[in-house]
Amino acid sequence: MPALPAGVPAMKALYPGSFDPLTLGHLDLIERASRLFDGLVVAVLQNPGKQPSFSLEQRLGQIRSATAHLNRVEVASFDGLTVTFASQCGAAVILRGLRAMSDFEYELQIAHTNSSLAPSIETLFLATATRHSFLSSSVVKEVARFGGAVEHMVPEVVAKDLASLFNQGQRA
Ligand code: ADP
Repeated sequence: MPALPAGVPAMKALYPGSFDPLTLGHLDLIERASRLFDGLVVAVLQNPGKQPSFSLEQRLGQIRSATAHLNRVEVASFDGLTVTFASQCGAAVILRGLRAMSDFEYELQIAHTNSSLAPSIETLFLATATRHSFLSSSVVKEVARFGGAVEHMVPEVVAKDLASLFNQGQRA
């Protein structure tokens, strides 16, 4: 990445999520955001209230592999408050994706909550690419569980992980 002129602050963003697993919708957002910011931290939330289908290490591996071509992207994990992790990363922006109106109410509530906790951190929303707007991690798992093609929905590394998850006879 070329050095910024003196006095220009680097703008870093945090893209938090479960990424269980990463889809092409997530990846599209990451690619677009990596062109908008000087640095982008993609961070997997370790949520004690959720039992993920993929381990934390698998999800980090999937994201690292799918974003290896993006030199402004770092991959991390965190637990606790997103705003606390954003401050630790030096991120002034929390990035979230919006697929449809159904995402809006929940996302707005989280954005307002985060703003009440840390007013200097802004939440920015990127609209999902139209061709990926139907995609969610749970839809992808549902299709893979019943043997449907997912190659147009997820990066190659994730398609392989889905195949091994559902071909072991342990229908997760
Ligand atoms: P969370 O459990 O935090 O909602 P997800 O991994 O489901 O984690 O989503 C992380 C972020 O990615 C959210 O902002 C979500 O709206 C966004 N997102 C999910 N699917 C897509 C998609 N197909 N295209 C763009 N953004 C998406």
